Amino acid sequence: MRVKLVAGNWKMSGSLASSQALIKAILPQVAALNRARYAVCPPFPYLGVVGQVSQGSNVALGAQDLCQFDDGAYTGGVSGAMLADCGCRYALVGHSERRGIFGETDEAAALKYGQALKHGLTPILCVGETLAEREAGATESVVARQLDAVVKRCGAAAIGQGVIAYEPVWAIGTGKTATPQQAQDVHAFIRGRIAAADRRVAEALTILYGGSVKAGNAAQLFAMPDVDGGLIGGASLVADEFVAICRAAQDAKETVKA
Ligand code: PEP
Repeated sequence: MRVKLVAGNWKMSGSLASSQALIKAILPQVAALNRARYAVCPPFPYLGVVGQVSQGSNVALGAQDLCQFDDGAYTGGVSGAMLADCGCRYALVGHSERRGIFGETDEAAALKYGQALKHGLTPILCVGETLAEREAGATESVVARQLDAVVKRCGAAAIGQGVIAYEPVWAIGTGKTATPQQAQDVHAFIRGRIAAADRRVAEALTILYGGSVKAGNAAQLFAMPDVDGGLIGGASLVADEFVAICRAAQDAKETVKA
Protein backbone atom coordinates (compact mmCIF):
# COMPACT_ATOMS: atom_id res chain seq x y z
CA MET A 1 0.00 0.00 0.00
CA ARG A 2 1.44 3.39 -0.92
CA VAL A 3 0.33 6.33 1.19
CA LYS A 4 -0.17 9.50 -0.79
CA LEU A 5 1.98 12.59 -0.22
CA VAL A 6 1.16 16.22 -1.00
CA ALA A 7 4.06 18.68 -0.76
CA GLY A 8 3.77 22.43 -1.26
CA ASN A 9 6.69 24.22 -2.92
CA TRP A 10 6.43 27.85 -1.88
CA LYS A 11 9.37 28.80 -4.14
CA MET A 12 10.77 32.34 -3.61
CA SER A 13 7.41 33.75 -2.57
CA GLY A 14 6.02 35.60 0.41
CA SER A 15 7.43 37.22 3.50
CA LEU A 16 8.01 36.22 7.10
CA ALA A 17 4.52 37.43 8.01
CA SER A 18 2.78 35.81 5.04
CA SER A 19 4.62 32.49 5.58
CA GLN A 20 3.49 32.45 9.20
CA ALA A 21 -0.06 33.31 8.19
CA LEU A 22 -0.11 30.64 5.47
CA ILE A 23 1.06 27.79 7.68
CA LYS A 24 -1.33 28.89 10.43
CA ALA A 25 -4.21 28.79 7.95
CA ILE A 26 -3.22 25.35 6.63
CA LEU A 27 -2.54 23.48 9.87
CA PRO A 28 -5.98 23.36 11.51
CA GLN A 29 -7.64 22.26 8.27
CA VAL A 30 -5.12 19.51 7.54
CA ALA A 31 -5.05 18.30 11.15
CA ALA A 32 -8.08 16.08 10.63
CA LEU A 33 -6.67 14.43 7.49
CA ASN A 34 -4.95 11.22 8.49
CA ARG A 35 -4.87 9.03 5.39
CA ALA A 36 -2.05 10.79 3.53
CA ARG A 37 1.22 12.64 4.21
CA TYR A 38 1.61 16.39 3.92
CA ALA A 39 4.57 18.78 3.73
CA VAL A 40 5.43 22.37 2.90
CA CYS A 41 8.74 23.68 1.55
CA PRO A 42 9.10 27.36 2.48
CA PRO A 43 12.04 29.56 1.43
CA PHE A 44 15.19 28.89 3.49
CA PRO A 45 14.92 32.00 5.72
CA TYR A 46 11.42 31.02 6.82
CA LEU A 47 12.12 27.37 7.64
CA GLY A 48 12.66 28.26 11.28
CA VAL A 49 9.41 30.06 11.83
CA VAL A 50 7.30 27.68 9.74
CA GLY A 51 8.97 24.77 11.53
CA GLN A 52 8.15 26.27 14.92
CA VAL A 53 4.51 26.83 14.05
CA SER A 54 4.10 23.36 12.51
CA GLN A 55 6.01 21.43 15.16
CA GLY A 56 4.01 18.42 16.34
CA SER A 57 1.52 18.76 13.47
CA ASN A 58 0.91 16.39 10.57
CA VAL A 59 2.48 18.84 8.09
CA ALA A 60 6.17 18.11 7.71
CA LEU A 61 8.82 20.66 6.84
CA GLY A 62 10.81 20.46 3.62
CA ALA A 63 13.53 22.50 1.92
CA GLN A 64 13.52 23.51 -1.73
CA ASP A 65 17.16 22.63 -2.33
CA LEU A 66 20.36 21.70 -0.52
CA CYS A 67 24.06 21.92 -1.22
CA GLN A 68 25.77 18.96 -2.88
CA PHE A 69 28.69 19.27 -0.45
CA ASP A 70 28.95 18.49 3.24
CA ASP A 71 30.20 21.67 4.86
CA GLY A 72 32.94 24.24 4.55
CA ALA A 73 33.80 27.02 2.10
CA TYR A 74 30.67 26.98 -0.07
CA THR A 75 29.38 30.53 0.22
CA GLY A 76 25.60 30.65 0.01
CA GLY A 77 25.26 26.90 0.38
CA VAL A 78 22.87 25.26 2.83
CA SER A 79 23.89 21.76 3.85
CA GLY A 80 21.75 18.72 4.50
CA ALA A 81 22.96 18.75 8.10
CA MET A 82 21.73 22.33 8.55
CA LEU A 83 18.33 21.44 7.13
CA ALA A 84 18.01 18.42 9.38
CA ASP A 85 19.02 20.66 12.27
CA CYS A 86 16.16 23.03 11.38
CA GLY A 87 13.63 20.20 11.53
CA CYS A 88 13.33 19.44 7.83
CA ARG A 89 12.14 15.99 6.86
CA TYR A 90 12.18 16.48 3.08
CA ALA A 91 14.39 18.25 0.54
CA LEU A 92 13.54 18.91 -3.09
CA VAL A 93 16.37 17.86 -5.39
CA GLY A 94 16.83 18.81 -9.03
CA HIS A 95 13.71 20.94 -9.40
CA SER A 96 13.44 22.05 -13.03
CA GLU A 97 13.94 25.68 -11.97
CA ARG A 98 17.26 24.68 -10.37
CA ARG A 99 18.19 22.72 -13.48
CA GLY A 100 16.97 25.23 -16.05
CA ILE A 101 17.68 28.61 -14.44
CA PHE A 102 20.67 27.77 -12.25
CA GLY A 103 22.30 25.23 -14.54
CA GLU A 104 22.12 22.31 -12.13
CA THR A 105 23.37 19.13 -13.79
CA ASP A 106 22.14 15.56 -13.39
CA GLU A 107 25.36 14.84 -11.52
CA ALA A 108 24.82 17.74 -9.08
CA ALA A 109 21.27 16.53 -8.47
CA ALA A 110 22.61 13.03 -7.77
CA LEU A 111 25.14 14.42 -5.29
CA LYS A 112 22.37 16.41 -3.57
CA TYR A 113 20.22 13.29 -3.40
CA GLY A 114 23.06 11.48 -1.65
CA GLN A 115 23.60 14.38 0.74
CA ALA A 116 19.92 14.45 1.68
CA LEU A 117 19.97 10.75 2.53
CA LYS A 118 23.23 11.07 4.40
CA HIS A 119 21.63 13.60 6.72
CA GLY A 120 18.39 11.72 7.28
CA LEU A 121 16.26 13.80 4.90
CA THR A 122 13.90 12.29 2.37
CA PRO A 123 14.92 13.64 -1.04
CA ILE A 124 12.14 14.45 -3.49
CA LEU A 125 13.88 14.04 -6.84
CA CYS A 126 12.22 16.12 -9.55
CA VAL A 127 12.42 14.86 -13.12
CA GLY A 128 10.66 15.93 -16.27
CA GLU A 129 10.96 17.03 -19.86
CA THR A 130 10.64 20.41 -21.55
CA LEU A 131 7.99 21.03 -24.19
CA ALA A 132 10.60 20.74 -26.96
CA GLU A 133 11.76 17.42 -25.55
CA ARG A 134 8.17 16.10 -25.36
CA GLU A 135 7.46 17.23 -28.92
CA ALA A 136 10.65 15.51 -30.06
CA GLY A 137 9.44 12.27 -28.47
CA ALA A 138 12.24 12.40 -25.89
CA THR A 139 10.16 12.37 -22.68
CA GLU A 140 11.21 8.87 -21.62
CA SER A 141 14.87 9.28 -22.53
CA VAL A 142 15.11 12.56 -20.58
CA VAL A 143 13.40 11.14 -17.51
CA ALA A 144 15.51 7.97 -17.73
CA ARG A 145 18.72 10.02 -17.92
CA GLN A 146 17.74 12.09 -14.86
CA LEU A 147 16.81 8.96 -12.88
CA ASP A 148 19.81 6.93 -13.99
CA ALA A 149 22.23 9.61 -12.78
CA VAL A 150 20.93 9.12 -9.25
CA VAL A 151 20.80 5.31 -9.48
CA LYS A 152 24.37 5.27 -10.80
CA ARG A 153 25.72 7.44 -7.97
CA CYS A 154 23.54 6.36 -5.04
CA GLY A 155 22.30 2.88 -6.03
CA ALA A 156 18.79 1.55 -6.73
CA ALA A 157 18.10 0.93 -3.03
CA ALA A 158 18.61 4.66 -2.38
CA ILE A 159 15.71 5.41 -4.71
CA GLY A 160 13.53 3.53 -2.24
CA GLN A 161 14.52 5.94 0.51
CA GLY A 162 13.34 8.93 -1.48
CA VAL A 163 10.39 10.18 -3.47
CA ILE A 164 10.25 10.93 -7.21
CA ALA A 165 8.29 13.88 -8.56
CA TYR A 166 7.44 13.79 -12.25
CA GLU A 167 7.14 17.43 -13.23
CA PRO A 168 6.86 18.12 -16.95
CA VAL A 169 8.54 21.51 -17.33
CA TRP A 170 5.84 22.65 -19.76
CA ALA A 171 3.22 22.21 -17.05
CA ILE A 172 5.00 24.07 -14.25
CA GLY A 173 3.48 27.44 -13.48
CA THR A 174 1.85 27.53 -16.91
CA GLY A 175 -1.67 26.46 -16.03
CA LYS A 176 -1.24 23.57 -18.53
CA THR A 177 -1.66 20.38 -16.55
CA ALA A 178 -0.67 17.02 -17.98
CA THR A 179 -3.78 14.93 -18.49
CA PRO A 180 -4.20 12.17 -15.91
CA GLN A 181 -3.29 9.66 -18.65
CA GLN A 182 -0.15 11.59 -19.68
CA ALA A 183 0.95 11.66 -16.05
CA GLN A 184 0.09 7.98 -15.57
CA ASP A 185 2.10 6.97 -18.65
CA VAL A 186 5.27 8.64 -17.41
CA HIS A 187 4.74 7.48 -13.82
CA ALA A 188 4.39 3.90 -15.07
CA PHE A 189 7.55 4.35 -17.11
CA ILE A 190 9.42 5.59 -14.01
CA ARG A 191 8.17 2.69 -11.90
CA GLY A 192 9.11 0.25 -14.64
CA ARG A 193 12.59 1.69 -14.98
CA ILE A 194 13.22 1.35 -11.24
CA ALA A 195 11.63 -2.13 -11.27
CA ALA A 196 14.25 -3.25 -13.76
CA ALA A 197 16.84 -2.58 -11.03
CA ASP A 198 14.76 -3.52 -7.97
CA ARG A 199 11.12 -4.60 -8.22
CA ARG A 200 10.30 -4.21 -4.53
CA VAL A 201 11.72 -0.71 -4.39
CA ALA A 202 9.67 0.20 -7.46
CA GLU A 203 6.42 -1.14 -6.04
CA ALA A 204 6.76 0.83 -2.82
CA LEU A 205 8.09 4.00 -4.47
CA THR A 206 6.10 7.21 -4.03
CA ILE A 207 5.87 9.03 -7.37
CA LEU A 208 4.32 12.50 -7.24
CA TYR A 209 2.96 14.49 -10.14
CA GLY A 210 3.72 18.21 -10.30
CA GLY A 211 2.66 20.83 -12.81
CA SER A 212 -0.31 23.16 -12.32
CA VAL A 213 -2.10 20.86 -9.88
CA LYS A 214 -5.12 22.66 -8.43
CA ALA A 215 -8.11 21.87 -6.27
CA GLY A 216 -10.10 21.32 -9.46
CA ASN A 217 -7.86 18.66 -11.06
CA ALA A 218 -6.15 16.95 -8.11
CA ALA A 219 -8.72 14.18 -7.63
CA GLN A 220 -8.51 13.00 -11.25
CA LEU A 221 -4.72 12.97 -11.15
CA PHE A 222 -4.57 11.20 -7.78
CA ALA A 223 -6.99 8.55 -9.04
CA MET A 224 -4.39 7.21 -11.49
CA PRO A 225 -2.78 3.98 -10.27
CA ASP A 226 0.82 5.21 -10.35
CA VAL A 227 0.20 8.77 -9.15
CA ASP A 228 0.94 8.81 -5.43
CA GLY A 229 0.25 12.47 -4.73
CA GLY A 230 1.47 15.85 -5.87
CA LEU A 231 4.17 18.47 -5.68
CA ILE A 232 2.26 21.73 -5.70
CA GLY A 233 3.68 25.13 -6.62
CA GLY A 234 1.32 28.07 -7.15
CA ALA A 235 -1.71 26.45 -5.54
CA SER A 236 0.24 25.76 -2.35
CA LEU A 237 0.38 29.50 -1.68
CA VAL A 238 -3.37 29.70 -1.21
CA ALA A 239 -4.39 27.91 1.98
CA ASP A 240 -7.84 26.82 0.83
CA GLU A 241 -6.53 25.51 -2.52
CA PHE A 242 -3.72 23.61 -0.85
CA VAL A 243 -6.04 22.15 1.77
CA ALA A 244 -8.48 21.06 -0.95
CA ILE A 245 -5.61 19.25 -2.72
CA CYS A 246 -4.63 17.63 0.59
CA ARG A 247 -8.23 16.53 0.97
CA ALA A 248 -8.17 15.01 -2.53
CA ALA A 249 -5.18 12.92 -1.44
CA GLN A 250 -6.99 11.94 1.73
CA ASP A 251 -10.05 10.86 -0.24
CA ALA A 252 -8.18 9.08 -3.05
CA LYS A 253 -8.26 5.32 -2.96
CA GLU A 254 -5.14 3.83 -1.47
CA THR A 255 -2.96 2.45 -4.20
CA VAL A 256 -2.62 -1.27 -4.08
CA LYS A 257 0.77 -2.64 -5.00
CA ALA A 258 1.01 -3.88 -8.57
C1 PEP B 1 6.52 23.20 -8.94
O1 PEP B 1 7.16 24.22 -8.99
O2 PEP B 1 7.04 22.20 -8.42
C2 PEP B 1 5.17 23.20 -9.48
C3 PEP B 1 4.59 22.04 -9.67
O3 PEP B 1 4.60 24.41 -9.74
P1 PEP B 1 3.07 24.70 -10.19
O4 PEP B 1 2.19 23.83 -9.35
O5 PEP B 1 2.87 26.16 -9.94
O6 PEP B 1 2.98 24.34 -11.63
